[in-house]
Amino acid sequence: MTTGRMQIRRKPTRGSYELADALAVLCEGLFGHLAFIQDDHPYCIPMVHGMVDETLYLHGSAASRACRIAGSGAPLCFTVTLADGVVVAKSMVNSSLNYRSCVVMGAGRPVTDPDEITVAYHAVVDSLIPGRSGDVRAPTDRELKKTAFLAMTLDEFSVKARHGGPVEEAEDVGLPHWSGVVPARIVFGAAEPAMDGQGPVPPYLDPYVRPDGGNRS
Ligand SMILES: Cc1cc2nc3c(=O)[nH]c(=O)nc-3n(C[C@H](O)[C@H](O)[C@H](O)COP(=O)(O)OP(=O)(O)OC[C@H]3O[C@@H](n4cnc5c(N)ncnc54)[C@H](O)[C@@H]3O)c2cc1C
Repeated sequence: MTTGRMQIRRKPTRGSYELADALAVLCEGLFGHLAFIQDDHPYCIPMVHGMVDETLYLHGSAASRACRIAGSGAPLCFTVTLADGVVVAKSMVNSSLNYRSCVVMGAGRPVTDPDEITVAYHAVVDSLIPGRSGDVRAPTDRELKKTAFLAMTLDEFSVKARHGGPVEEAEDVGLPHWSGVVPARIVFGAAEPAMDGQGPVPPYLDPYVRPDGGNRS
């Protein structure tokens, strides 16, 4: 759903309010930024997230300010951005980035039901390390007490993407400056063991692969 405050005004043709487009960005993104206001001041804090259908889960220390405020029903904004390329134009004004980004707004809901906490924890861990939640020690009660979980539903979101080469002014096309695109990708290396004698790297880390939201060109 889109609302007035989610309306992309500049270059609206780059915008989308389709759930599938939002999920593609949110599932591919390794982390996002949670924005909230405290004492009339905006804060924007990086956090990992996990997706289950149309619910976005966040977690953190129950003592952290971001989790306390996010769980209080305060208005939140969570943004995930994927950088796909550096756009090298002939002019300063047209120098840009190729990207896909998703903005989600709404109030955070504290997750307190034990079954939903399990779902949320698995989602966040699997988002960070795809395939890991079935192959890791479960949290203790003490760890769970110290951890806060929050849910945001995708009721209000917007997606924006820029693809392609530089857009030049007509009078700039003949200028001698090089122009083009430098593609950008996150590259994950081979998994490095923390200690000797652990046996082979688990299949889900060999290689480490993230969901691919596609459409980078
Ligand atoms: C990595 C990156 C770098 C950027 N760098 C610049 C820059 O240097 N200068 C610049 O002017 N713009 C930049 N943009 C674009 C910027 O995000 C805004 O789209 C732009 O400022 C125009 O916003 P607006 O005035 O249309 O909307 P605003 O009034 O700012 O926002 C209205 C609503 O539009 C939606 N929206 C706006 N932008 C996005 C977005 N990117 N993704 C999803 N939803 C969005 C939100 O729901 C927001 O509530 C960048 C975008 C990305 C992803």
